Amino acid sequence: PQDGEQGNPAHSLFETFLRANHCEEVLGSFQALCRQLALEHKGQLQFYHKLKSCLNYWSAKALWGKLDKKAGHKDYDQGKACANTKCLIIGAGPCGLRTAIELAFLGARVVLVEKRDSFSRNNVLHLWPFTIHDLRALGAKKFYGRFCTGALDHISIRQLQLILLKVALLLGVEIHINVQFKGLIPPAAKGSGGWKAALQPSSSPVGQYEFDVLISAGGGKFVPEGFKRKETRGKLAIGITTNFVNHHSRAEVEVAEISGVARIYNQQFFQNLYNKTGIDLENIVYYKDDTHYFVMTAKKQSLLQKGVIVQDKADIESLLSAENVNQEALLSYAKEAANFSTNYQLPDLEFALNHRNHPDVDMFDFTCMNRSENAALVRECHGARLLIGLVGDCLVEPFWPLGTGVARGFLAAFDAAWMVKRWAAGTAPLDLLAERESIYQQLSQTSPDNTNKNTSQYSIDPTTRYRNINLQAIKPNQVRDLYVVGKIEINHKKRDSRNSRGNAYEGLLSWCQTHTEGYRGVTVTDFTHSWKSGLALCALIHRFRPSLLDFNSLDQHSPLKNNQLALDIAEQELGIPPVLSSTEMAAGAEPNQLGLITYLSQFYEAFKSSER
Ligand code: FAD
Repeated sequence: PQDGEQGNPAHSLFETFLRANHCEEVLGSFQALCRQLALEHKGQLQFYHKLKSCLNYWSAKALWGKLDKKAGHKDYDQGKACANTKCLIIGAGPCGLRTAIELAFLGARVVLVEKRDSFSRNNVLHLWPFTIHDLRALGAKKFYGRFCTGALDHISIRQLQLILLKVALLLGVEIHINVQFKGLIPPAAKGSGGWKAALQPSSSPVGQYEFDVLISAGGGKFVPEGFKRKETRGKLAIGITTNFVNHHSRAEVEVAEISGVARIYNQQFFQNLYNKTGIDLENIVYYKDDTHYFVMTAKKQSLLQKGVIVQDKADIESLLSAENVNQEALLSYAKEAANFSTNYQLPDLEFALNHRNHPDVDMFDFTCMNRSENAALVRECHGARLLIGLVGDCLVEPFWPLGTGVARGFLAAFDAAWMVKRWAAGTAPLDLLAERESIYQQLSQTSPDNTNKNTSQYSIDPTTRYRNINLQAIKPNQVRDLYVVGKIEINHKKRDSRNSRGNAYEGLLSWCQTHTEGYRGVTVTDFTHSWKSGLALCALIHRFRPSLLDFNSLDQHSPLKNNQLALDIAEQELGIPPVLSSTEMAAGAEPNQLGLITYLSQFYEAFKSSER
């Protein structure tokens, strides 16, 4: 409390709220503040205006100034754009909270459920310039004084969640922690009300809430029924994240960050690291934040050699399963890499602890990443319509070392809010879905370089952010599948997808057999050994595009050369990017099977129209 405010309990409660550093502390101090001011916290923007009039002292006013400026943007129509819209949001990760804030500015009633009761992720996210601008405009520095001081462009996940949680609460968003979304409950009969959610615990009052918009921001592992996932399978990528305590000492302050030493840019660094320590990395990033945070992509062979992974296994899940990872060796590996890459200048690295009170080191599989095929759908049951949108990791999973998660996540949060605004304005569902998909097409290609430079003009309107966007790239008749009437048969769907996966395997195999038949030295019986010599792949290319290579000149005893030739031709002439390296292709090993299937599927896609 400042001069003149000492005696006012509401002011000191507000200051406690601003500084609160844990999820439960934020919620507790906020409730205490509302009680003190006798304000009922109902999920709408009117709450914000009432609170503002109660807290009219200088420190609070600085924050209101920022939030009022935001709220005054024309897109929100003075908080009336979505005044009759009721939204449920799943997940208090950065993207769920960021979406909640936009929907609150639009005037919607917003209720958010979060299954956990703490924010415990120390890991640090890279912020693109627009996200920094955005967070500043929401008053981030008021809640977290260290926010992007100097040239820093990152923040720990938990601090980001805390900032957004506070803003969301101030804007009237109703937040329920320890409540898990389990599924949707459609209205039982015509005229019997709207859509509701099945929750755990079922006693949660949110169970009574009827809503017409559902936003899922439940992270990478949670996708509501009705959405199909698309898997992007790259080459084997094993990520390690680790956090060390930051004592903020002078010595620590002086150590330089590493904002992405990609292997290709600095071969010598990685060679030296390998020679000195036996650690072989593709890349490493170091951010100095609440903690000293490192994220690196490690090569499997070096993890095996250093005893981190106990036994080589065919599938990545078993490879990285708890039983197959030596935790002690993993800790040493991470610490050694951190020490080497900071030139041993961070004194006495001491592991920060995670939410289980264990050293904060984790190893993850980034070999395949998921994205949803679509960003939204509309369901209708007994005349009640529900708009469902995905945001954040639930929509597109990021590759952590590139730190695209929160930037693309915020873009999607704005896109989702734009969609809800258009929904509230009565846009026809198919027009709305077509527009949403047109915008979604842009998301994966976004980078700070190809989005609009004028970040201060960014708003939920997509044309302020994406360059040359065509909002009608996808036509309403292409999104009919996204308007679902009645129930979604989940079990039936699962069975289907398993079958179709089996059939897809057989189908692809038989297609490859047909089109490589008769070529010298080629017999395709599987997706491993049959492709080792490289002849099968060359044959496949030759079969459809004979001018691209001279099959007769190939030597079956030069597998690396043959594979490299095929990979290069495919990339340059057919636009098919490599999934495996020529060495991996020539190994013909079991673990690469899925990679090869993914790769060959692209040939199938490219050539199927030219089959004779
Ligand atoms: P999340 O941050 O994952 O939030 C989803 C929220 O939804 C969670 O709080 C979860 O508890 C909640 N939830 C899930 N299901 C339900 C349900 N059914 N009902 C209610 N609540 C539900 N990115 C990086 O760039 N670098 C990193 O080092 C990094 N480390 C990470 C470590 C972990 C353990 C995780 C999970 C993610 C990490 N990420 C990292 C990803 C990064 O956190 C996300 O890209 C970013 O936070 C945006 O995510 P989001 O809001 O979409 O989802």
